Parts: sequence; structure tokens; C-alpha cells
Amino acid sequence: MEQKYEGNVLTTLRDDGSRIWMRPKLSQGRFLNRRRIVGYALIVLFLVLPFVYVGGHPAILLDVMARRFYFFGTVFHPTDSVLLMFTMLSIFLGIFWITALFGRVWCGWGCPQTVYMELLFRPLERLIEGDIGKQRQLDKATFASRRWLKYAVFMVIAFILGNQFLAYFVGWERLAVWMTESPWDHLGGFGVMAVTTGLVFFDFAYFREQMCTVICPYARLQSALLDRQSLIVGYDKLRGEARRRVKARKDGDDSGDCIDCRACVITCPTGIDIRDGLQLECIACTQCIDACDKIMDRIGKPRGLIRLSSQYNLETKAPTKIVRPRVVIYPLIIVALLGFLVFLLATKSPADVTVLRQLTAPYVVLEDGTVRNQLRVKVVNRTESPQTYELKISGVEDSKILAPQFPLTVNALDSVTTPVFVTLPKDRFEGGAYNVKFMVSDGEGFETALPYMLLGPE
Ligand code: SF4
Ligand code: SF4
Repeated sequence: MEQKYEGNVLTTLRDDGSRIWMRPKLSQGRFLNRRRIVGYALIVLFLVLPFVYVGGHPAILLDVMARRFYFFGTVFHPTDSVLLMFTMLSIFLGIFWITALFGRVWCGWGCPQTVYMELLFRPLERLIEGDIGKQRQLDKATFASRRWLKYAVFMVIAFILGNQFLAYFVGWERLAVWMTESPWDHLGGFGVMAVTTGLVFFDFAYFREQMCTVICPYARLQSALLDRQSLIVGYDKLRGEARRRVKARKDGDDSGDCIDCRACVITCPTGIDIRDGLQLECIACTQCIDACDKIMDRIGKPRGLIRLSSQYNLETKAPTKIVRPRVVIYPLIIVALLGFLVFLLATKSPADVTVLRQLTAPYVVLEDGTVRNQLRVKVVNRTESPQTYELKISGVEDSKILAPQFPLTVNALDSVTTPVFVTLPKDRFEGGAYNVKFMVSDGEGFETALPYMLLGPE
């Protein structure tokens, strides 16, 4: 791997702005074995989740077209912003809590970017092109043909992963239709599939570790989310320094356990030297631990010069304090939020009704002197079956209401917005207003009354 240059803001950039391509050396070891188990289990999970149904709906589906979000049996509509807010808040606080305890374990072990890059694309790359040492021995033509073969394989995988990603947004049934029918019948869908495939290919074939080091906001949040007791991948300076190559060591000098072999650097997928301390680019993949453990075994020193520990432990040798304020406060807030969320879900109304004013003139005075308010009534049916809704307006005779679509039938989990006209004599309006109540019911127990102000001339 190429050398890191002094003054670089990024480990993957040279002073002249050109890119240093990362070709990390694979380090076998106990952490890699565990990561493989977790990672391949996650790859299977990511692949099958779009096909898993809970309560008759996809377990996770962000149905952009229908503007609905399915989350393990719960359906969120655009009107459920409060519910969604509490759900997202609970998830974010959960991430904060896990980060406070286990550091960036998500980045190195759970994030699809790392899992696919390090356990799928990178191994395939090593298989086809060989590691950096073997690549240097290849003649130009062989190297070029292998590279094209690699890109072809990457493209096939990008197509599969791109469509799998899309299934979380459009559902696998719709995706299957797009894939099996002529592109001309679903030009929009075909375009989305092509763009998603292209983006996945671009990410894993070209952009790679820069997604973590340049784009991902989570990396930037870690300084706020971690504390000195959080679990990190760290180098034991007290034990390792003064680092010195084996040949340069003399009896009785101040050499530590680090033999400055750089095995931890050449294995790092983001190209950093963990001996420089905790860095934003460290995704906690633990490859440097496996690399250094192997060196320690070879030179007969105890493992763990680089290890999973807290900054506090590494600097003081004192045990890490697991119980601390943030580790207790986060779960307490999460439990409170989830309790409130369960309450909101349990008391959720089977329908939402909204009365909206017409966008143009709020009212018109007709030739006979009466005043007509033109409104829109939106009904969201939250139940699993079609429902028919009746409309009444208190203080307004039925003959004065024109609601052509009422009784209004709304499909399960669907919504309909329909026009309603209310025509009243001018003298009903006092100070330009007449207060009424819109009452909508479904005959099966749902009833709502919405206060509303009809407008007229002063
Ligand atoms: S692998 Fe271990 S011994 Fe080698 S440079 Fe890194 S910390 Fe030092
Ligand atoms: S420093 Fe170690 S744990 Fe961090 S990204 Fe590099 S190899 Fe992975």
C-alpha cells in the first residue's frame, strides 16, 4: 500500500489531490472469523427482509408512491408524523446508546456499506485480481483483462443489490413486475432500477471507503457520541512505545512491544495508522487487532497491543467504567418514548379526517345572493378493510350541502380527498364567519367532529 503523506487531510489523498487506492491486506484471525459470521448473516437478512411479511404487510417498506411506511406490522401515513417522530427518536437514541457503550460497532460490523465492501466486493476483488503483491507481477494485458472481469462481476452484484435496496421502497411485487415485463411498459421503474444499479456499482467499484471517511455523517458525530469509557479499537501506547524495529533494538533500551512492522496499517481498509490515536476514519473493523495479534504471537509477546478497550483503560490501565450517566439516561428516555408510542398506537383513531379550504377564493357570492364555500375533505382509512363514510355538518341543513362523493368509500389503508360545497344565505355570517362542525362517521363506531369556520362577506 502506498505511503501516507504528511499534511494530508485524508488518508486516501496525496498532496497533489490524486487518490491513493486502498488495497488492504487481509488479516486472518479471531475477529475476522466473528465478523464473517455476523456479516454473512446480515447479508442474508438484508436479502430476505423485503420478502418477510408481518400482519399481512412487508416487515419494512417505505412505500414512496403510496406515501406509507410499513414497520413490522405498524403502518405509518403522512398524517402520522408524531408517531413517526417518536419511532425515529427511539431508534436514534438507541444508536446513541449503543455507540456510547460499544463505540462504532455498527460501522465495522453492521453497516451494509462495510459488510458488502469488506465481505463481498473486496474478497471477490482479491480472488480475481490477487492481492497487491500478485498484481505487481502480472503483465499489463493480464491485469487489464482481470480488471474488466472484476467490473463485470461487480456489475452483476450491483444489479442484485440495487434491486434488493429498491425492494425496500417499492416492494418486491412491484419490482418483480418491472423486472419481468418489457422496459417500455415501465420506463420510470426501469430508469430507477438502472440508476440504483449504477449508484451501487459506483459506490463499491470506485467510491468505496470514501463513503465512510467523507460522506457518512455518523462518523462526524462520534466525537459527541463517544466518551472516554466507550469501547474503541485502540493502540496501547504505554505498552507499545517506544516503537522500534527489531533490528534497531539494543539490550536495555526503552523499546516497547511495537516493532513498527506496520502490519496494522497495511491491513486497514481506510488507510489510517491506529497508533496515532482514535481517528474519524476508524470504522472499528478490528482488522488491525488481528494483524497485530499475529505479530505478537510471532515475537512471543502477549496479544492485545491493539485491542478493543476504552481510551480511559488504554491511557490509565484502570478498568473501564461501564455504568455512567449517559449509559443510564439514554435507555430511560427510550423506554419513556416507547411507552408513549405504544399508548399512541393503542389509542390511534381508525380514520383521519381533514377539512381544507379551496386554494383559490375561500367563498363566492352567487347571483341569488347566497354564499358558497368550496372545501376539500380528506379521509384516511387506517383500517385493513374498505370503509364507507357519511358526512353531516352541524348548523347546516342537508339541502345546503353538496358532497357528490359522499357516502364516500375509501379502500383499506388508503385516502381520498373530495370536494364539498356549502351554500348558505348571507345573513348567517356574522363578521364574515359562520362556525360549524364537520361530522364524519363510518357506521361502525368511528365518529369525529371537526370545528370549522365557514367564510362569507362581512
Ligand atoms: S502491527 Fe502491532 S507491532 Fe506492528 S506496527 Fe502495528 S502495533 Fe506495532
Ligand atoms: S484502524 Fe483498525 S479498526 Fe480502525 S478501520 Fe483501520 S483496521 Fe479497522
